[in-house]
Amino acid sequence: MEKDLSMGLVLLESHLDGMLERVQQNSAALKRFQKFEMGLLGLNTLAEMIEYVLTYTQNFFELDHVSFCLIDENNEISRYLVEDRYDYKNRQGLILLSEKDFFYDRLGAMARPYLGAYMPKLCDYFFLEQEKPASVAVLPLNRRGRILGSLNLGSLKPDRFSMSMATDFIEHMISVISICLENNLNFETMRRTTLIDTLTGVNNRFFWEQRIDEELDRSSRNNQPLTCLFLDIDFFKKVNDVYGHQAGDYVLTEVAGTIKKQLRSNDVLARYGGEEFVALLSNIDEGKADEISERIRLAISQLTLNYNGDDIPVTISIGSASYQPNSAFSCPSSDIAEALIKQADTALYEAKRKGRNRVENGGRIATINRQLDHKIA
Ligand code: GH3
Ligand code: MG
Ligand code: MG
Repeated sequence: MEKDLSMGLVLLESHLDGMLERVQQNSAALKRFQKFEMGLLGLNTLAEMIEYVLTYTQNFFELDHVSFCLIDENNEISRYLVEDRYDYKNRQGLILLSEKDFFYDRLGAMARPYLGAYMPKLCDYFFLEQEKPASVAVLPLNRRGRILGSLNLGSLKPDRFSMSMATDFIEHMISVISICLENNLNFETMRRTTLIDTLTGVNNRFFWEQRIDEELDRSSRNNQPLTCLFLDIDFFKKVNDVYGHQAGDYVLTEVAGTIKKQLRSNDVLARYGGEEFVALLSNIDEGKADEISERIRLAISQLTLNYNGDDIPVTISIGSASYQPNSAFSCPSSDIAEALIKQADTALYEAKRKGRNRVENGGRIATINRQLDHKIA
């Protein structure tokens, strides 16, 4: 009897120990998850969020595979990422999907989470590695009835994810990720709307003022040249006078689009005001500036613009100035920006004076004297 009792006690004790251990494990997991959540809420950009989700989810769940799939029907996400210089094409685990029906086809009309054995038809697209997981969790990210993408977790252990698992914790996590994703996407859209010129669709002056300092800093950091172009449509007032203001708007939009097509995706183009544009070409020096300016000038002069039956001829004049990082430039980047803009604008004035529909190279800026002048003054 006494022996039975002590056996029972030992068993109870070991049960209690096991429970205590599980409670401690759960509490540690909860703490880690709260940390993960707090980090998620503090992110500022979509690129940061992608990095965070891919890295932390893998570490947090100790998984073999993680992928983050985002629906990008209008290629907006890829554009945002390129603009932020995020190399999304080479980020392992990131999948941009142009078709949201893809999810409904695989997960049903409600796009519910799937936890269980790896099924090629459902999972192939989400787990691109050679070695396929044995069990997976495909977790759609829904927000206000709209599917935004999915977080896909894979393990080589067959029993890691199963339909009988308690999913409260996972459901909580995916709703937090969905909210953050929606916020980030809205923020990225808003950030761009306030920085874009509504008529031409290129960036506006406000954006330009922010970016020029950043680009100059980057150029100094990487010890690479930077070229600034000032571009102004010739005799644009006449276009308005002869064909009407709406035709003028059409010409402005077409010209902006044509300039943009001649630039690389990470070059900066902005409408500076009226019929005047500015561009910043990274890693381009004064030697290469003419070739690009000339290519833009030619593309504009070859445009066939027809508005309400009228063929409208259009030409552009371009002035350039270049910055070459150098130890002599110890002044703030706003001073360099001012010198760069002034020199490109002077070159543009020269192009106009010499007859328009031409490019003029203002050369490399030299701020050494300006700096000394400042110091002396
Ligand atoms: P230049 O070759 O010397 O640059 O001559 P220009 O006629 O292009 O220059 P000017 O500065 O005399 O005229 C610019 C015109 O651009 C005047 C203005 O009405 C027109 N403009 C500015 N913004 C807009 C716009 O948003 N839409 C239209 N349609 N016209 C605009
Ligand atoms: Mg003009
Ligand atoms: Mg002008």
